[in-house]
Amino acid sequence: MEQQRKILMISSEMAPLIKTGGLGDVVGALPAEFIRRGCDVRVVIPKYSDCRLNGYHVEKVVEPMGVGMGNGQEWCSAFKVVTETAIPVYLVEHHRFFSRPGLYHDSGMNDYPDNPRRFGFFTRAALQLCRDLNFRPDVVHAHDWQTALAPAYLKLWDWNSPVLGQAASVLTIHNAAYQGIYPGVHYNYLGLGWRNFVPDKFETYDHVHFLKGGIYYADVVNTVSPGYAREISAPYSPYGLAPPLSNKGVDFLGILNGVDYDQWSPEKDGVIPERYSSDDLRGKKACKRALQKHFHLEERDEVPLVGSIGRFVHQKGYHLLAGIIDAALENMDFQFVILGTGDNTLERFFGGLSARRPGRVGSHIGFSNDLAHIIEAGCDFFLMPSMYEPCGLNQMYSLRYGTLPIVRATGGLDDTVVNYDENTGGGTGFKYYDAVPDALYHTLEWALRTYYERPGHMNQLIARAMAQDFSWEKSAGEYLKVYDRAIENKKRYDTLFL
Ligand code: ADP
Repeated sequence: MEQQRKILMISSEMAPLIKTGGLGDVVGALPAEFIRRGCDVRVVIPKYSDCRLNGYHVEKVVEPMGVGMGNGQEWCSAFKVVTETAIPVYLVEHHRFFSRPGLYHDSGMNDYPDNPRRFGFFTRAALQLCRDLNFRPDVVHAHDWQTALAPAYLKLWDWNSPVLGQAASVLTIHNAAYQGIYPGVHYNYLGLGWRNFVPDKFETYDHVHFLKGGIYYADVVNTVSPGYAREISAPYSPYGLAPPLSNKGVDFLGILNGVDYDQWSPEKDGVIPERYSSDDLRGKKACKRALQKHFHLEERDEVPLVGSIGRFVHQKGYHLLAGIIDAALENMDFQFVILGTGDNTLERFFGGLSARRPGRVGSHIGFSNDLAHIIEAGCDFFLMPSMYEPCGLNQMYSLRYGTLPIVRATGGLDDTVVNYDENTGGGTGFKYYDAVPDALYHTLEWALRTYYERPGHMNQLIARAMAQDFSWEKSAGEYLKVYDRAIENKKRYDTLFL
């Protein structure tokens, strides 16, 4: 019998109110699953100018709210909205910190220099809100560097608070590349105590390191796939987090993100031209034809269609794809469609590819949710050549649409895709290991050869791919187990001081 926990989620993003990436999706979806299981969960986010609050009833719940920082008191207000999925969300309003464009940087992509103060303050404000609302969480769940100080504040400031003194803490790392390392001059403001400005906790070369401090103080730390957990805690991992994460022992683990199958499944998809299921794939053929029409490709059923969607950033490995795609198109008979934005050079390269390969390649440089759905449904293969991938969503979507993923075996991609076994027909996709162009080229060739030469195996792969279950329900169950463990750890920690 599951305990009906009281949970406070503190996050810098939450879909659909404000989102720049996977963090927003997780914080939008996970609480809804907890509510379905009878938990009392509340989410706190900053009230940015860019928050999409139209259509919501926005209620002011606390004003003024005093928040103690290292050098005195900040004043702010708190608002509340309830989402379509019944999640109560509190928004902290502080004009100097959050009434400006964007979340983390200005329109020129310059990181706001006061980010450590903005998010340090916000994190303390979220905890202060519990006191003002008399909400006594069993667990405080923080996300990424922006709110990583929550576990530290709980142990350093709130240890004897009647409201927060019992709360255990969980910290989730969504992307270890962003750690929140800022000049030490900000440390005093954060109010964490100079005796804690040491390399084991917050100090890194005279800078304050949010994520490292959070890892130290959290009762349990997790990241968004078991594979990525192994990668970022391995010796010589490029992130420099191996020592603090290894110190957590079994209290550092990976939990896969879930998929919203109401939005992303061929049976329910409201965008694709024809729905289909694993029992009847005729609709998938219609989607393929629609995609070929959309991109003015040759309308042939028998030619394999390969798709890719993603941000053109180094992480996603499109620079490797750019190095092999022309040779692949010369030497193999397939069509290719790509949807993405980001790096200018890659935008120009992939944008121009369709003009250079008319009838064979379609490219859309921009963001289009509708097109993303049609690509997932209409392609035969889905390419993700990532250099690293904490979890990744697109490969999980493509499995459900029977669009076999071709991926680099890293992080969540390695965890969610099972490599094709030529002897048995087993697996759900095609994987390669080395992040080099040749490996990508030959794996694409392997997939295409399988398509042409082994239709029986292809059918088995597609059926198995479509049967995979990466639902939020499953992930939420794992998070609840993590909460139980965090509560046990917190109790043990408290006895240290008896
Ligand atoms: P990340 O969060 O690192 O960008 P994920 O694979 O976890 O990568 O999730 C990416 C999500 O964003 C997917 O839902 C994907 O379809 C969507 N996406 C990325 N780029 C685009 C784009 N240009 N147009 C439409 N959707 C996109």
